[in-house]
Amino acid sequence: MIWDAHCHLSGVPGRSPEERMRQLIEFADRFGIERLCVFMGMTWSNDPSPEDMRRQNDEVLAALKAFPDRAFGFVYLNPNHLDASLGELDRCVRDGPMVGVKLWVARHCNAPELDPIVRRAVELKAPVLQHIYLKATGNLPGESTPAELAELALRHPAAVLIGAHTGSDWEIGIRAVRNCPNVSVDLCGFDPTAGVTEMAVRELGAERVIFGSDAGGRSFASQLGKVLGADIPDSAKKLILGENLKRLLMPILRQKGMG
Ligand SMILES: [Zn+2]
Repeated sequence: MIWDAHCHLSGVPGRSPEERMRQLIEFADRFGIERLCVFMGMTWSNDPSPEDMRRQNDEVLAALKAFPDRAFGFVYLNPNHLDASLGELDRCVRDGPMVGVKLWVARHCNAPELDPIVRRAVELKAPVLQHIYLKATGNLPGESTPAELAELALRHPAAVLIGAHTGSDWEIGIRAVRNCPNVSVDLCGFDPTAGVTEMAVRELGAERVIFGSDAGGRSFASQLGKVLGADIPDSAKKLILGENLKRLLMPILRQKGMG
């Protein structure tokens, strides 16, 4: 069983969300990937206005409607527009089919504006996937680091948090979240490097490591290679490829009658 925690509608051929979702699923089928978590629209913005946030979430809702048995949606929120974000969280998760929250680069994730979002996500049993990155060339102005996610996690021990890209500079990223048991990492979105999955399993435990591809920004094959080629037990690979994500999503799926 393979579930992908991190996919997008951007970078995928197709004129509509439905066409792009169909294309993603066609590629995923070649690898036996059963379920794809998808978030953000066909085009992105770093700091989306309330209208643009809604447009992007509407595109994901259209993709979910066309493929309800293959795609899971995470609502894309912007803490710079807190009221609009809480409205979108209610619209897409509480009252809609989405099952998680995606936060990207609009605001550092240790900011107090994230607290109401994370509290509401906890109430809804929705995991929060936060982009974390350490760029050699310098981060974007609002781009979060792994250490900032650790700060957020310590304020919200009941939250289910996923650090996207393992911070990209993964030797630092893994260490930064090591002492936060409610933080898992997804392995997506950087070149496959020998040792990343092994270190994540050694330092966090296999239960806190999650497969994601970042398709269409990255290929399924290159990102699956990080797990399939890792020198870890088969039981750890099973957890990483699907069982961990399923465990994190099961409370909200059950609540929605989807599990
Ligand atoms: Zn991504």
